[in-house]
Amino acid sequence: MRVVLLGPPGAGKGTQAERICAAWGLPHVSTGDMLRAAIASGSALGKEVRETMDRGHLVPDELIGRIVEERLSQSDAAKGFLLDGFPRTPVQVEILERVLGARGRRLDRVVMLELPMETAIARLLLGRRDAAGKSRSDDNEMTIRERMKVYENETRPIAELYQQRRLLAKVDATGTIDEVFSRIARTLNGAEA
Ligand code: AMP
Repeated sequence: MRVVLLGPPGAGKGTQAERICAAWGLPHVSTGDMLRAAIASGSALGKEVRETMDRGHLVPDELIGRIVEERLSQSDAAKGFLLDGFPRTPVQVEILERVLGARGRRLDRVVMLELPMETAIARLLLGRRDAAGKSRSDDNEMTIRERMKVYENETRPIAELYQQRRLLAKVDATGTIDEVFSRIARTLNGAEA
């Protein structure tokens, strides 16, 4: 199964992505995680994207397209994958279609998590912490508001594109992690049938 998970910052994408991947045995392809790993490793790519990420802006479509194309060509992605945080712009939708089309593949489902913006901001400000108790460097209020704006302006429009392709499933992301996961599971079970 080939799935895209979309949603504003604070919707719980990362958490739900891990649950979906565990339940369906899919590799979790998170462009945000890949970029953070590049920064942590001190690579040239990391140096190139760090400032953009810290400001809450998107890195260039062409650059992220190359990273995803490379990742999806690895053998573990041959039978399926969950894309978390990509595509984020209409141009990235086209890049993904081209990459999949070249291999004779297409997406099965695009899940869009939805929740009121103020709920998402409150969740983020409450503090997203990693296992070491550190928060993300882009989780401060100014950057959070900027990321929300970027989501509304650049990412939300791609819902329309996936609606036209009859791939879009909107899922209410309020409530507990279990509640949201069971809503997602219902729509993915429908996609498999
Ligand atoms: P995320 O962990 O998905 O919230 O991504 C964190 C940051 O990484 C974003 O705010 C962007 O700066 C960058 N990023 C991640 N995925 C993409 C993407 N598909 N296109 C452009 N920038 C991205």
